[in-house]
Amino acid sequence: MAVEIIETVRSMQARSDAWRSAGETIALVPTMGAFHEAHLSLMREGRRRADRLVVSLFVNPTQFGPGEDYDAYPRDLEADLKAAEGIGLDVLFHPSAGEMYPVGYATSVEVEELTETLCGPSRPGHFRGVATVVAKLFQAVRPHVAVFGEKDFQQLAVIRRMAADLHFDIEIVGVPIVREEDGLAMSSRNMYLSADERKTALSLSRSLDVARRMIADGERGALAIVERLRKEIESAGPCTIDYVSVADPETMAHKTTVDGPVLVVLAVKVGRARLIDNTVVAPPASP
Ligand code: AMP
Repeated sequence: MAVEIIETVRSMQARSDAWRSAGETIALVPTMGAFHEAHLSLMREGRRRADRLVVSLFVNPTQFGPGEDYDAYPRDLEADLKAAEGIGLDVLFHPSAGEMYPVGYATSVEVEELTETLCGPSRPGHFRGVATVVAKLFQAVRPHVAVFGEKDFQQLAVIRRMAADLHFDIEIVGVPIVREEDGLAMSSRNMYLSADERKTALSLSRSLDVARRMIADGERGALAIVERLRKEIESAGPCTIDYVSVADPETMAHKTTVDGPVLVVLAVKVGRARLIDNTVVAPPASP
């Protein structure tokens, strides 16, 4: 059966309210489209967790900075509908930019502290755009559960904070990173990569393996880990490192020592694709 597409906030709210009145639970999976296996894995998680599954597809202009890839971002509704066939979506919520941000729109959601490190400084306004659009999607879809990927680890932390601070009664679920067979984290932006760039991009996941090994072997200095990872990435091919960090998985603050579970996280530009990856590593318990 063809998936129902809803394009306005009002009709989405009406549909969700009807489900809620019938005692049904709703899961929301927010996406920007260009579906790959990771999106499908989030959708399956949503499907498992509620009676109704809504996937939103909205390339959100407010989370792209000037010079970023908003215009070039891949958009192919037909291909996405085909990719999601068989998952069992109840509704694809697909609003226009004008529907989400009508003329005169003036409100945004700013999550402090968590957004001051990592991707925050290099993408000014990005997390404001993300927090704002997710809050608006929550109001439009009124879900009980919302599913996000751990690939965007900082984004997940920002959304958890925002949902708690604004009293959204929504369970936020994180799904582990889905990778290609060779280790590259799946991303809609991988399609920007040439064959050579794709090889270079493998250094991201490889460097996370290096970090895991260093920590397992007893390295506790964050700087030593960061420097080793930067070398690994720089030697792989032409690229520009945005950041490599060992951070606190709760606060996103940079750490100097590995004294508990740490988030090893990086952002690297390869060709025109800005790629991110991360892993949480816990040092082995001392004997
Ligand atoms: P996007 O369409 O790229 O905005 O992503 C939509 C959702 O899919 C976000 O919650 C992302 O964190 C998640 N996602 C994207 N790529 C991956 C991946 N490789 N593994 C896990 N989650 C992902």
